[in-house]
Amino acid sequence: PKHFKTNEGEVIPQPSEGYGKIIATHYNSLEEKGLDERSKSRIFYMRNFHNWIKSMLINEYLTKIRDNKKHNAPIRVMDMGCGKGGDLLKWRKGGISHLICADIASVSLDQCKSRYSDMQNRSGRDRNPGNIYSIEYIEADCTKVRLREKYKDPSMKLDLVSCQFVFHYSFESLTQAECMIHNAAECLQPGGFFIGTIPDANDLLTRVRKSRLNSFGNEVFQVTFESDINKPPLFGAKYNFHLDGVVDCPEFLVHFPTLIKLAKKYGLRLVRKEKFYEFYKRMNSEGRHLMGNMKGLEAYPPYPGSHLVGTAVDDYVHAEEFLRNEG
Ligand code: SAM
Repeated sequence: PKHFKTNEGEVIPQPSEGYGKIIATHYNSLEEKGLDERSKSRIFYMRNFHNWIKSMLINEYLTKIRDNKKHNAPIRVMDMGCGKGGDLLKWRKGGISHLICADIASVSLDQCKSRYSDMQNRSGRDRNPGNIYSIEYIEADCTKVRLREKYKDPSMKLDLVSCQFVFHYSFESLTQAECMIHNAAECLQPGGFFIGTIPDANDLLTRVRKSRLNSFGNEVFQVTFESDINKPPLFGAKYNFHLDGVVDCPEFLVHFPTLIKLAKKYGLRLVRKEKFYEFYKRMNSEGRHLMGNMKGLEAYPPYPGSHLVGTAVDDYVHAEEFLRNEG
């Protein structure tokens, strides 16, 4: 097994088979462990803000896709790392026709399935149910398995691949990052989009470099680096994300220029990269508002992802600003 030596000389063994299992176990156990009240309230606004970001992003690209299509042409999407299906309702509001949900964590995928059937049952009682998209599920490590071979119809081409707060797990190694981007790229039709959200590596590094002992955070969360913070490797630049002693998940820095290169290799061209607060400002200045009521959008147990960290303390400020404006 590999080892990492911290500044204090502590030797931390690294699993030789990689972190996939540890990450899956972490997400699978979130439900049972739960968070204490303190964390719940502290992350409530952040989660709302992240949900808003995802809704606006999904909406922005579904609109572009629809504009380029003939009236009523079907829109097919993959939610890569769908988790418990936090975005299922967003896809419904977006009027898509088919969704492929892929995730490494079986318990999360089960929760996603029951949420989909809840949504289906509820829609049966709606006065204007509209159409609910069809769905298929793939339980797989998207950094190691070729997803296309698992589609019900492997020849199907998609319009959008959405990868929300997931892609950074692939930066454990070059082969894993390549596999994930390949999975996204090969199923898209020309003109299709890959959209995603990840923690900001530069921001994490700036903060940890200002800190002592390779670690920073507050009374709720903590980020601890287990890689060289002055010269992090392009892949496998690992840090641990802890939330209130409950969550403890390994994550990896995404070196963005490398991501752009890899994406290019598989036929994806960078369209836009924005920090959350830039996106937030642009959406506001374009006068876009969320369809429906954000707070009522999805009520489910908070689940603390890496995004809380990656999006910087600044985002607490923007989350507050957002809530003031949205009422
Ligand atoms: N996209 C969902 C959302 O925004 O609500 C879930 C985001 S959650 C922070 C990260 C998800 O990525 C978890 O569900 C986890 O199981 C999944 N994940 C992590 N590594 C993965 C991998 N190698 N292959 C597939 N899914 C992975």
